[in-house]
Amino acid sequence: MPTKSFDPLKIRADFPLLSRTMNGRPLVYLDSAATTQKPNAVIEALSNFYRESNANIHRGVYPLAEAATALYENTRTKVAEFIKSPSSQNVIFTRNTTESINLVAHSWGRKFLKEGDEILITDFEHHANIVPWYQLSKEKGVKLKSVPITNDGQLDMAAFDRLLTPRVKLVAVTALSNVLGVRPPLQKIILMAHQNKSLVLVDGAQSVPHEPTDVAHMDCDFLAFSAHKMLGPTGVGVLWVRPEILDTMDPFMGGGEMISTVKLDTITWADAPLKFEAGTPNYADVAAFSVALDYLTHIGMETVRQHEKTLAAYALKRLLERPDITVYGPKILDEQGSAISFNHKIVHAHDVGTILGEEGIAIRVGHHCAQPLMEALHVPATARLSFYVYNTTDDVDAFINGLSKVDQVFGLAKSAI
Ligand code: PLP
Repeated sequence: MPTKSFDPLKIRADFPLLSRTMNGRPLVYLDSAATTQKPNAVIEALSNFYRESNANIHRGVYPLAEAATALYENTRTKVAEFIKSPSSQNVIFTRNTTESINLVAHSWGRKFLKEGDEILITDFEHHANIVPWYQLSKEKGVKLKSVPITNDGQLDMAAFDRLLTPRVKLVAVTALSNVLGVRPPLQKIILMAHQNKSLVLVDGAQSVPHEPTDVAHMDCDFLAFSAHKMLGPTGVGVLWVRPEILDTMDPFMGGGEMISTVKLDTITWADAPLKFEAGTPNYADVAAFSVALDYLTHIGMETVRQHEKTLAAYALKRLLERPDITVYGPKILDEQGSAISFNHKIVHAHDVGTILGEEGIAIRVGHHCAQPLMEALHVPATARLSFYVYNTTDDVDAFINGLSKVDQVFGLAKSAI
C-alpha cells in the first residue's frame, strides 16, 4: 500500500492542468503512458531557467554560463542516482527514448553488426524499438527476429529460448508494454542473453517513470527512457550505456562540443558523454528535468509503483465486471502495470475514445505505435487507460461511468450486450 504520507489528492494540487475542465466537466487524465502532466515546480523551473540562468553550456567562461553548465551536469548526476548508476559519465542526454535507441543502432550497431548477425526483439515493442533495428537490418544485412506472445498476452519464453541463437548479437526488449501493461521477465531475459553473449537494450520508457530502477542490478547494456513520461519537460531523453561498451562506440552526430581537436585531415573525439551530444543540447529542459526527478524521489519510486498497482488492480477489476468489454493481456490483478488495453465488444475504439473525450475523460485509442502487437492480438486498435502519481480511484470510477455513456450513445441496453 502507498506510504501513509502519500496522498494523491495533495499531489494533484501540484498539477495546474489537472484542475481545468473539458466540455464543462472536470478533466480526467488517463493517458500518462503517452506523456505525463507537469507539476508547478517543473513548470517554474523551466521558466526560471530562461528568466535567470540562460546561457549556452560547456562554452562560456563567465559565471552565468558556468552556472548553466552546472545545472545541466547536475541533472546528469541526478539521473545517474535515480537509476543507481555508479557513474554519470555513461548517462547521455538525447531528445527522447526514440533518439536513444537510434543512437545505439547508429553508434554501436553500425560499427559492430555484420551480415548474418541477428537482432532479437519482441512482439511487445513500440515502433521506437522496431524501426531503428529494421533500418539497420536493411543497411547491414542483419536479420531482425521477434519473440511472439502467448495467447494470454505474456512473452513466449519457450520461443525466446529457441530464437536466441548464437547469431543473436542484440536483444532489444521493453521493460513494460505500453499497450498491455505487461512486464516481460527481464532478469531472466538478460541472464539468458548474456549467457548467449548477446547484449541487451532495455526500453525503459514505461518502466523508469513507474518503478524503482537499478541498472547495476538489472545488468543490461543499454537503457533508454524519456523525461516527458516522468513529469519532466519534452525534448529530453536518456541513454545509459554500460561503461565498457561506451568507449567502443562511434559518435552519433558530428558537430560542436563532441570533439577534442579538429583539423581538416584528423578529428579526435571528446570523451563520453559529450562525444554523443553534438551541438547545443536542450539544456533548459534538462535543467528542469532535475526538478521532476526530485519530485519523484521525494514521493519514492516504490510508493509510485504501489499506488499505480492499486489503481491498475481496481480498474482491471471494474473492467472485467463488464460483459461489454474485452480486456487484453494476462489480466492478473496484482501484476498489472500502469497501462490497460481493452475494446468495447460492439463500439470501435475510436468512438469509445471520442465519447469519453467529450465527457472530459482522456484515454488513448489506436495502435499505440505497436502495430506488430495489434497483429498478434488480431485487432486494428485498442483503447488504453494509463495512470500516474496524480490519478485516483475517482478517475477510474469516472472512466467506468463514461463507458456507460458509450453504451447509451450507441443505444446499447444492458440486456442487448
Ligand atoms: N518505448 C515505449 C515502450 C513507449 O511507450 C514509447 C512512447 O510511448 C516510446 C518507446 C517512445 O518514446 P518517445 O516518443 O518519448 O521517444
